[in-house]
Amino acid sequence: MARVLIIGAGGVGNVVIKKCAQNSEVFTDILVASRRVASCDKIVAEIQSTARITTAQVDADNVPETVALIRKFRPDLLINVALPYQDLNLMDACLETGVHYLDTANYEPRDVAHFEYSWQWAYQERFRKAGLMALLGCGFDPGVTNVFTAWMRKHRFDRVDTLDIIDCNAGSHGQHFATNFNPEINIREITQNGRYWQNGAWVETKPLEIHRGVDYPEVGVRESYLLFHEELESLVKHFPEIQRARFWMTFGQQYITHLTVLQNVGMTRIDPIDFQGQQIIPLEFLKALLPEPSSLGANYTGKTCIGVQLKGEKDGKPATDFVYNVCEHAACWTEVQAQAVSYTTGVPAMIGAALMLTGVWQGTGVFNMEQLDPDPFMAMLNRWGLPWQELAGVELVP
Ligand code: NDP
Repeated sequence: MARVLIIGAGGVGNVVIKKCAQNSEVFTDILVASRRVASCDKIVAEIQSTARITTAQVDADNVPETVALIRKFRPDLLINVALPYQDLNLMDACLETGVHYLDTANYEPRDVAHFEYSWQWAYQERFRKAGLMALLGCGFDPGVTNVFTAWMRKHRFDRVDTLDIIDCNAGSHGQHFATNFNPEINIREITQNGRYWQNGAWVETKPLEIHRGVDYPEVGVRESYLLFHEELESLVKHFPEIQRARFWMTFGQQYITHLTVLQNVGMTRIDPIDFQGQQIIPLEFLKALLPEPSSLGANYTGKTCIGVQLKGEKDGKPATDFVYNVCEHAACWTEVQAQAVSYTTGVPAMIGAALMLTGVWQGTGVFNMEQLDPDPFMAMLNRWGLPWQELAGVELVP
């Protein structure tokens, strides 16, 4: 029924490709393209599906090259699971060829560790005029967390006052130090200042300055650190009634110790340095040494628990609700040879794409997930491997 071009064949790409192949009623023709075609071929060799799946090499930083690939394959939708650096180039390529667009992470320039939606929101008019839809941030967080928020706002609240997104990876991959998604993007996110929304303004904190123990369902108490995360920006825009919005993520002590040392010796720097007559960026060099996220799955044990707590009012009474998913690393490995962080990102990307391609979610312009009807997405989460649960009246984060 639909043709999809998936760009990126790393940890998340592996899951998106395999879940699209499972849903071959919708995704009948799949082209997988990445910087190295070997990464695509390796994944595709593991798939048995009635979908027609082919692979190609593409440099998504190169717009004319991507446009040529799109013109040859003629997809209905492009799923971008390469890196945030490629977002704008891929949106340009979609506009030039008349193709809908979906990604899981917002644009970041390479030379500044800064991410915000303004660059992609600036495409609003161009997508609208072209009659195309761009769906931004369709992973777990951002992505499912935006949908959980929209669903609770629709069904459980008349007014929302506070939002807390809590993200726990209580798994163990057995490595001294590794990141669960692209190391460069992950370390840039964690080492920058924290930020949360309070009474109409951003409050800035030092990196990992604010933390507290949170008692996660099925996992237990884990130290959780306040970070800035991109969905906060779109959620406070689309739900302006929210007075306070925060994002929390767990890190083990070993992870923080390694990160601190790496930072102290300059290995997380993103400015070029001279090394034996050659310019190198220390963080890019560090990435080359660290395990690839897609390689962590085989021996990963434990679970992730990610959810959204809202507090506000329903029928004139105070209300608190928490909607969450628990995902087990080993089960993800058995199903699609991935760890749970890749899995929880890749499944929502497939679901968002399926909703767009079947016309359940449609529109012209640039959309964040909370702007669309959450109900069909929530139903598909249960069907496609990320069942959600709800705890009403329990306050996990004060
Ligand atoms: P990986 O590093 O494992 O994979 C990235 C892939 O993109 C690789 O296959 C890489 O190719 C390819 N790639 C990089 N640059 C280019 C380029 N110029 N042209 C074509 N292909 C390119 O990262 P992940 O899979 O872990 O993450 C993918 C995306 O998902 C990231 O944007 C990340 O931020 C996002 N993400 C979102 C989450 C969410 O919940 N919303 C959570 C986790 C991740 P090669 O193998 O040749 O290097």
